[in-house]
Amino acid sequence: MIYDVIILGAGPSGLYLAQKLRQQFNHHLTILILEKNGYVGGRTRQIDFFGELINTGAGVGRVKKDHHLLSMQKRLDRDIHKWRSRIGYDGFLPVPMKRILRRLQKMYRRDVHRSLTFQQFFLLYYSIEEWKRFCWTNGYTDFVDADIEDTLFDYGFEDNLPGAEFFRVEWNKMMEKLAEGLDIRFHHESRVFRYHNKCYTVETMNGNRYRARVLVVAGFLHPSLPSFIHEQIRPQPFLRAYRHFKKAVQLHEPVIHNRSESQKQIQVTDHIIMTAYCDNDNARHYVKRHKNTDHSVVFYREIGTHYYRPLSVTMMMTRTEFIDKAQNPEPNLFVIGEMISQNQGWTEGAFDSVHRIYRKLCSVLSS
Ligand SMILES: Cc1cc2nc3c(=O)[nH]c(=O)nc-3n(C[C@H](O)[C@H](O)[C@H](O)COP(=O)(O)OP(=O)(O)OC[C@H]3O[C@@H](n4cnc5c(N)ncnc54)[C@H](O)[C@@H]3O)c2cc1C
Repeated sequence: MIYDVIILGAGPSGLYLAQKLRQQFNHHLTILILEKNGYVGGRTRQIDFFGELINTGAGVGRVKKDHHLLSMQKRLDRDIHKWRSRIGYDGFLPVPMKRILRRLQKMYRRDVHRSLTFQQFFLLYYSIEEWKRFCWTNGYTDFVDADIEDTLFDYGFEDNLPGAEFFRVEWNKMMEKLAEGLDIRFHHESRVFRYHNKCYTVETMNGNRYRARVLVVAGFLHPSLPSFIHEQIRPQPFLRAYRHFKKAVQLHEPVIHNRSESQKQIQVTDHIIMTAYCDNDNARHYVKRHKNTDHSVVFYREIGTHYYRPLSVTMMMTRTEFIDKAQNPEPNLFVIGEMISQNQGWTEGAFDSVHRIYRKLCSVLSS
């Protein structure tokens, strides 16, 4: 059988696209999803920990920015739980982030340094001590090696500062709802794909082969994707650790530390604290030293979120042009997901990426 579309990956981007196509083509399209894991939702998976659903990956939605996510959450529960973040800084004085960013944006506009990373650019104007305090104030370091322009204008530092407004997301419920009625083969990790005789053949690790007119890679850097995509988009590790306490504990607000690799700690319930929320080297060090126990659990993801490497001058492309090319690198091949959006690190980026190529994909499928 030759499917109309095969989607590799049953994370938010793959499921969202499959449901949109199913509704638009009124079931007249054969769609198959091949998923590596035994569950849907990818990096948004929640698990039960002492009677509480805790986030192993994605945490919250942003009220002002995550419009698709918010409307999906409203369909699950009209009563949206919203709050404004408060942050305690432990062991250092936070830097004036907004002022620093305004100055850097001005300097960048004056003299574009295309091939530098964000850290290299920052250090042209500030000391290494100020760089450290900048990273601590932000709470994460997931922009260190990223493109300057993407970091200055798209990263969204304001989301990590006190006062940002968030809403709770029921990730498992949402993903299970999105997966309703879809043909998903679990434990089907695609190993390689190739184009031959006007269709794509996908081979899975468990030795199966599937064929389709159109192939969509959803949410990860498949090894068969062209090398220019791998060169530009890089993954970075992220970690969350939780501990259950027999007696109630009080942390009150999220705390950012400068002294430990746990980086950020957040109260979940009276008895559960996220004892570490960190990325890059902090995550690598933390996972080496901490093992799961009866009362604590660590979720380390080597591929936590993604960022764009600097767009070198020789590429002669803007970010938008790169995304256009990378989302449709061959005529019947499409790529979607957080990694290939202008909202990296957020699920909204995964949904944005679907909208960006949707018309083009539909016109290929209708032809
Ligand atoms: C620690 C952490 C915190 C985060 N916090 C937030 C947050 O607060 N808010 C927010 O909105 N987002 C957050 N995110 C990001 C969010 O998880 C992602 O943006 C979202 O999951 C991206 O969806 P996706 O479909 O692009 O990719 P994924 O969710 O990664 O889905 C890709 C799917 O492809 C499957 N797959 C991989 N390889 C193969 C293969 N070879 N063959 C078949 N299937 C394969 C995977 O198993 C997965 O199911 C966080 C992520 C992490 C790790």
